[in-house]
Amino acid sequence: MTTEAACAELVSRLKRIHVLGTVNGLLGWDEQVNLPPDSADLRAEQLALMAEVQHAAASDPRIGELLAVLEGRRAELSPDQQVVLQHARRDYDRVVKLPAEFVREKARHSSQAFHAWADCKARSDFPGYAPYLQKHLELARQEAAYLGFAAAPYDYLIDRHDPGMTAAVIERLFAELKVSLVPLMREIVASPVKARLDIFRGFPVEKQRAFLRAVTERLGFNYRRGRIDVSLHPFCEGSGADIRMTTRFDENNPLNSLFSSIHETGHGLYEQGTRLEHQGTALGQAVGMGVHESQSRLWENQVARSRAFWRFFEPRFRKTFPRQLRAIAPDEFYLAVNAVQPTLIRVDADEVTYNLHIILRFELEKRLLAGTLAVADLPAAWNALAQELLGLTPPNDREGVLQDVHWSGGMFGYFPSYCLGNMMAAQLWYKVQGDLPGLEDDFARGDFSRLLGWLRRNIHEQGRRHDTQELVKVVTGEPLTPRHLLRYLRERYGALYLGN
Ligand code: ZN
Repeated sequence: MTTEAACAELVSRLKRIHVLGTVNGLLGWDEQVNLPPDSADLRAEQLALMAEVQHAAASDPRIGELLAVLEGRRAELSPDQQVVLQHARRDYDRVVKLPAEFVREKARHSSQAFHAWADCKARSDFPGYAPYLQKHLELARQEAAYLGFAAAPYDYLIDRHDPGMTAAVIERLFAELKVSLVPLMREIVASPVKARLDIFRGFPVEKQRAFLRAVTERLGFNYRRGRIDVSLHPFCEGSGADIRMTTRFDENNPLNSLFSSIHETGHGLYEQGTRLEHQGTALGQAVGMGVHESQSRLWENQVARSRAFWRFFEPRFRKTFPRQLRAIAPDEFYLAVNAVQPTLIRVDADEVTYNLHIILRFELEKRLLAGTLAVADLPAAWNALAQELLGLTPPNDREGVLQDVHWSGGMFGYFPSYCLGNMMAAQLWYKVQGDLPGLEDDFARGDFSRLLGWLRRNIHEQGRRHDTQELVKVVTGEPLTPRHLLRYLRERYGALYLGN
């Protein structure tokens, strides 16, 4: 077999796995957007069948043979082919090192644990949920051991979401962030300046929908290769040629659906910017969760909460909702766009306090996986950290340790990505402003194309060529650091709340 033929066959198999994954994704999207209430059982069967077919394709021994052939001829491969080969090996090893019975058991337990979590959350019953969490921790350690990470299970779980990242690196970054962020948050909370969100009342959903479509289209989202619908929790699903985003509407909270749509648009723009001809291989895939989140946060926060952005959009927003906005002054409006208010609930948090919610979860996950925190002691540890970081103690476990869905699916190591993404977004933000002078003047004219072009070249089109930390270094010239996020928060929120 020639090297070219082996490469071509490997790529065609990777594309097949990718296409199967997109079918799976579409079924999942449909489940959350369209599924009739009594059709859930069939959908569960369809999803399980697709997962089985996909797993069979991904673990086909023929892929192992092709990888071995190509690894023996590495010198003949182009740099791009080497990138594809390296990631195909990594993905293949992860699929075949996990016994099928283990994968089935984990899926079964995740489904049971999800339902147990939903019930226990409704009753605020942590002891009822604890055995499910305990079992998930055991499965996570077992999975790490299969993959050769028995001594450092949390590193494995982090690496699954952010390739190359480790608990030690995150610990250092978060410690540096926390030491300045906690006092900044306290200063802002103590400020006499208060944002008001209760002044937004009676924004018809149809008009909100039209407005956010116009905004996201102008940011660069291509609606010929994607769409936006409504679901309980907003998300973005799909890759390259077909992106499905969702949002939710509240007549009395129009900024919420707008910003969540812009957030999902950031994810969608990343996927739409990956190279279509390379879909399915590492050259046409996103790096990981942290980089993904850097894209959604950059559009949502640095761009869409800026004065320049609203210089263009505020007149249009007022024209769409003249009656609802009549009594709201421009300063009041801009303050509401940048409201800061510590809350117990992560998904309701503003961008200043959000990172503290993540630091809390990282700290607890790390101790759980290391075995230095027992599941039974988790609620008390959660509440103590919430008090220390946010100045708030949950009145019950529903608003504390039971609030998030992630752990019920065994998704440890996922939370840090949100905060890493925030750091990355700020670091990219200062870099792109240096590279493209006058960027905010573009925004004030409603032109986001130079920013999108820069992100396309530097991030989206790079695929998985670099891991999370390398990418940040290659693009910005320095390692990932929280300094830029702290500078950005101080500049934006200092000006609004502290008169800086
Ligand atoms: Zn996101």
